[in-house]
Amino acid sequence: MKRWSDFLWVLVCTLLLCIPAGYEPRHFAKLLFAGAFVQSLFYVLVAWWLTRRSICGRTTVFTIAYLLFIVETFTFIFFESRFDPGILTLILQTSGREISEFFQTYVWSSGTLLFLAAVVVVYGLLLWLLRPAKKHVKLWPVLVSAGLFVVTWLPLPFPIGQNTINELAMSVRFVQEKHGEIVLMNQAINDIKVYAYPEKEQAPVIVLVIGESFNRNHSSLYGYGLETSPLMERERAEGRLTVFTDVHTPTNGTDYAMRYLFTLKGCETDHADSSQYVLMPAVMKQAHYGVAYFDNQYTRSSGGSLDYSCGYFLNPTYINDHCFDYRNTETKEYDGDFINDCRKQFLTTHRSLNIIHLQGQHFNAARRYPANYGVFSASNIQRSDLSESQRQQVAEYDNATRYNDYVLGMIIDSFRKTDAVIIYLADHGEQIYDGREQNFGRGFSGEQDEETLRNVYHIPMMIWCSDGYIAHHAEQYQRIQASAGRKFCSADIPYLLFDLAGVDFNHNHQERSVIDSLFKPHETIITDY
Ligand SMILES: [Zn+2]
Repeated sequence: MKRWSDFLWVLVCTLLLCIPAGYEPRHFAKLLFAGAFVQSLFYVLVAWWLTRRSICGRTTVFTIAYLLFIVETFTFIFFESRFDPGILTLILQTSGREISEFFQTYVWSSGTLLFLAAVVVVYGLLLWLLRPAKKHVKLWPVLVSAGLFVVTWLPLPFPIGQNTINELAMSVRFVQEKHGEIVLMNQAINDIKVYAYPEKEQAPVIVLVIGESFNRNHSSLYGYGLETSPLMERERAEGRLTVFTDVHTPTNGTDYAMRYLFTLKGCETDHADSSQYVLMPAVMKQAHYGVAYFDNQYTRSSGGSLDYSCGYFLNPTYINDHCFDYRNTETKEYDGDFINDCRKQFLTTHRSLNIIHLQGQHFNAARRYPANYGVFSASNIQRSDLSESQRQQVAEYDNATRYNDYVLGMIIDSFRKTDAVIIYLADHGEQIYDGREQNFGRGFSGEQDEETLRNVYHIPMMIWCSDGYIAHHAEQYQRIQASAGRKFCSADIPYLLFDLAGVDFNHNHQERSVIDSLFKPHETIITDY
């Protein structure tokens, strides 16, 4: 009986550690899964021997294995991914508001509460079932453990799958490495050499608006049936707005997108290429542009200088001081209130760059617009293949898209009377039950099927020019209009900004500016990092 409970303890702990390796589609029932099993068995046998006289030790080891298993299972169910570096970064970058929204959306549903209750009950049952035997001191487990230890460290001709312990260690290591990038970015700032910049009166006001989770197929600018972008449609009809039709993003994560937009990292950049650490705002500042940064998702103060929020690399003091003249310290629940709040700080004199990062249509879309901005309801969504509640979710997304149009209108109005050019693009899209697959949200396991590419990686982008800008920069305006159909990768946005700003420097590549006559289009390589 005692031996039997020992055997059961080893078996259950081993399975808890290695089963999540099977969640990865390519790993299941393959050599990788066998590798994860061997490693797990090794860890458990060592732990079993070390804790042979300690009930407390046995309980602790079992509890850790159980917790790791539940966490991996939970992230797999909700994010279609194991607890990998992406998920860890996501958690570390999550603000208090997002956590409470996450709890309200996921945890306070009856299904999840039932799941959590089952987790607790199963834990109690297993704990009772696996209660340790008294003392059995044998030599053989030590020998077996030592043998397994050698096996796990031998160079094998095939990769070994990650059990939950390796997975956690790998994630922590990854986040540490990310931090090393900061050092390289500091060096890159010192290496910038500006060759040319315009006289103050000749330089425009440039505004870069980074949207969030904008599926362009839900915008009437791109042919959607409901009127979700009425203000932008009017700007287009009056000749101020140019809508780009073939723009793609290399990533579906906000933090990774920010890295592509703020630095010279391209989707095909070689790992050894140091220009990937050059920060676009630092170049603009050295070219005597005033630079202001307004972010409604994260502020420098929200996570401190070491946080891993989507703009974490912009937070350390040296980088912050060399990139920005102004940065907001507070965020607002709705983008409209945010713009209202910070537009007094917008830089509207010649030779300025304003960067604005919105909440946009980020999940949960119903929370992105005030109640009185809800124009559409389930009855407006003509989709007989969807349930009532799914059609309601589509309507909420469309309302958020329309509210985003209103917010863009506010931004435009702030610059209407100045010599300004505004570039809007989304970090990535989102799936809103669009196709036959009826996918919703974003997965984190790198799917590249046709529906995902169309709704997540093919993004909206537009350039608005004020009447003053069109009058003073007729040639640029012509070039913008002539480029609307070009295939463009959002990672090359910095080069478009340098072109519009009239800035040249030591890492510039004219052929990457979508409006340049030398522009060379390239395929967007989806990297998801
Ligand atoms: Zn995003």
